[in-house]
Amino acid sequence: MEPEEIDDHLTSGYWQIEPERPKTRRACAAVLARLPEEIADRIIYSHEVLLFAPGGSLGQCLPYSLYGQMIPKQMNVVVNGSPQSHSYEMPHFKFCLVYLAEELEKEEYPVIVAVVAHEVAHGILREVFGDECERQADLQIIEWGFEAELQALRDANPHHRY
Ligand SMILES: [Zn+2]
Repeated sequence: MEPEEIDDHLTSGYWQIEPERPKTRRACAAVLARLPEEIADRIIYSHEVLLFAPGGSLGQCLPYSLYGQMIPKQMNVVVNGSPQSHSYEMPHFKFCLVYLAEELEKEEYPVIVAVVAHEVAHGILREVFGDECERQADLQIIEWGFEAELQALRDANPHHRY
């Protein structure tokens, strides 16, 4: 992934990182640069993982435009007393939203990198609930080369489970 592509992505709104979060921004850019090309493409060009790192504002609205795959659907209706079935198609959007708490900015840089990579792994794997998903996300970031950062996260946060 080229640095310009990453810069563009970080100003596109699909990964929204507020100016109060320079360390988080640097960590997000580093994670995108270190991810396998295919994964970074899925994030930057297919918007499979959106990311929001809010700053000090009390509320915020972010507009997104996403491509959805058309999925066949069935609708049952009653017309003049007789049930009928109609087929139609609806766009289906599948993506994950990663949220990075403001407190993360206070952590050591490698910890921030590990948290970003771990949450992105959840989004790519589409596995977000339960202990097994936590284990899977950590295994994924080790495979991506974030083992040292994961160790820093485990040292800093004893509640990080695996
Ligand atoms: Zn997790």
